[in-house]
Amino acid sequence: MTASEDLDQWNKEDLLEKDRKYVWHHMTAHNENPMIIASGDGSWVTDIDGNRYLDGMSGLWCVNVGHGRREIAEAAADQMMKLAYATLVQSHIPAIELAAKLNEWLIGDYRIFYSNSGSDANEVAFKIARQYHHQNGKPSKYKFISRHRAYHGNSMGALGATGQAQRKLKYEPLGVGFQHVPPPYCYRCPFGQTKETCSLQCAKAIENAIVWEGPDSVAGVILEPVITGGGMIIPPDDYLPMVRSICDKYDVLLIVDEVICGFGRSGKPFGHQNYEVRPDIVTMAKGLTSAYSPLSATAVSSELYDSFQEKEATSHFRHINTFGGNPVSCKVALTNLEIIEREDLVGRSAEIGNAFRSGLEPLQEHPHVGEIRIFGSAMGIELVEDRESKIPASVERVTKIVMACKSKGLLVGKNGDTVHGFANIITLSPPLSSTDSDVDFIIATLL
Ligand code: PLP
Repeated sequence: MTASEDLDQWNKEDLLEKDRKYVWHHMTAHNENPMIIASGDGSWVTDIDGNRYLDGMSGLWCVNVGHGRREIAEAAADQMMKLAYATLVQSHIPAIELAAKLNEWLIGDYRIFYSNSGSDANEVAFKIARQYHHQNGKPSKYKFISRHRAYHGNSMGALGATGQAQRKLKYEPLGVGFQHVPPPYCYRCPFGQTKETCSLQCAKAIENAIVWEGPDSVAGVILEPVITGGGMIIPPDDYLPMVRSICDKYDVLLIVDEVICGFGRSGKPFGHQNYEVRPDIVTMAKGLTSAYSPLSATAVSSELYDSFQEKEATSHFRHINTFGGNPVSCKVALTNLEIIEREDLVGRSAEIGNAFRSGLEPLQEHPHVGEIRIFGSAMGIELVEDRESKIPASVERVTKIVMACKSKGLLVGKNGDTVHGFANIITLSPPLSSTDSDVDFIIATLL
């Protein structure tokens, strides 16, 4: 059945009525008239009225290979018929093959623990880090350092690691032991520095936090290579290597959250590979399956893994989840990674970013554009009331722009410093498979 034939069987009013009555929407108080997305093809989605939109955010930064990949659907169907489920107390072929493939992508020696979502993957990282220190003679190391504006997930620990107060209000107390430091936000340097005077005080803030908390109490640092959802905050090149050496100095584990930056989004297989650091733990989700099926993973360096093989009855990692590493999801991930490799979508991601860079050059001078930040094919356009004062653009101005893009057929995101009431950064992260004409369309719409 074609997508348009499929649409004919639905009555929009009936769907909306059921939606209003039964669906609890994410992150929304109440949505009288949600856009009902009915189908997707490549970089485009079509709503129930037949309107087409370029999916400028790949859903939630996740549909890396684009919509409508029959090859993935067929691989999933095939796997369902072969084996729909097996636990990972035992093992199964797609989980084994995928773990090996992820090691190629990570260029390292990592053990792969599977879960269902990015939040799960981070929870697993926190538990592994604490248990590692515990059975390595340092049981008092339990705290984690994270950054303001970071988002690491919705569960109690991952939300604890999140550095955005408004996401936590009314849910506290959350997981304990999460401390936050200012991010490497050069456009508005929290330390009042400029490019010329920068001495990476943002990285030193992590060291200070470790020292002031007491190195014997700190288990890990968690960070995204680039803060994505918090407004595309790209660190200076030396930041991540410096954080790595601070972690080494205090026996603190470096956990890199690649939930968005992974799988080509950054123009490299993983975001941290832009900075040549080797994390102790890497968490991943979204682009792992391009969201065709839920799956996440926590990759743990083999040095850490080895300490879970001791003789005590409680030395192994005592964590299980029913769906993590489901054979169908693992097969979907394998097929997704095959597509990314075959079509060189990692290289394509960098090309898309370069096209944004040159195509959006004229926007750099726009009175309401403060800065355009691009990492691979992910982009943040920071809007201001005026370039001199850098006062963040008002909610009304940003909403108007988002709606104008939508009316022209482009879906974009908005993110930022919502603690202070500003979501003044327009974000884009289109499918890595976007064609030249898709990219031209995005640029033309934004100009
Ligand atoms: N980490 C980062 C950087 C994210 O952006 C997200 C979700 O957007 C998560 C973790 C949580 O992932 P999930 O929504 O799959 O739980």
